[in-house]
Amino acid sequence: MKELYVVQIGEPLDEVEVRGLRRGAGIFGYEVKLGERMKLLEGWLDGLRGQYNAEAIARWLGRRRGKSMAVLKRDLFVDGLNFVFGVALPWKGVAILSTYRLRDRDVSLFEERVAKEAAHELGHLLGLGHCANRLCLMSFSNSLKEVDEKRLWLCESCRAKLGL
Ligand SMILES: [Zn+2]
Ligand SMILES: [Zn+2]
Repeated sequence: MKELYVVQIGEPLDEVEVRGLRRGAGIFGYEVKLGERMKLLEGWLDGLRGQYNAEAIARWLGRRRGKSMAVLKRDLFVDGLNFVFGVALPWKGVAILSTYRLRDRDVSLFEERVAKEAAHELGHLLGLGHCANRLCLMSFSNSLKEVDEKRLWLCESCRAKLGL
């Protein structure tokens, strides 16, 4: 089985987050391997925004063998956007995912959201772009509403691109 290597940044992940990651990776036939834990670095924090710079984290992670996903509980941004759920740098084999805005009192909803966004970023690592089908997990989500509207499901056209 193919492995998605998960780097935990900052606070350790909850069981529900790990379950979500496993479900998301499973869509592509990947198994989650929990890897090292890393400290949050002060240099990644934009003090004014109170958010962490996803690109700074990605630069720091560098190039990796296989597919890796750094997961953290803090809020992420990239220049030009108020926030991002995650980013992927396919040429480095690295994605970053924040569970900060996905959290909900309903743990099964939280797990589902983590699964969708983890699968979305892994899809990018595997070479998929954004999909126009709003139900497909590769559609771009700019809000929780959009995350909840799409499904933990890959449309025919995205499947075909991967030969699934
Ligand atoms: Zn995307
Ligand atoms: Zn699609």
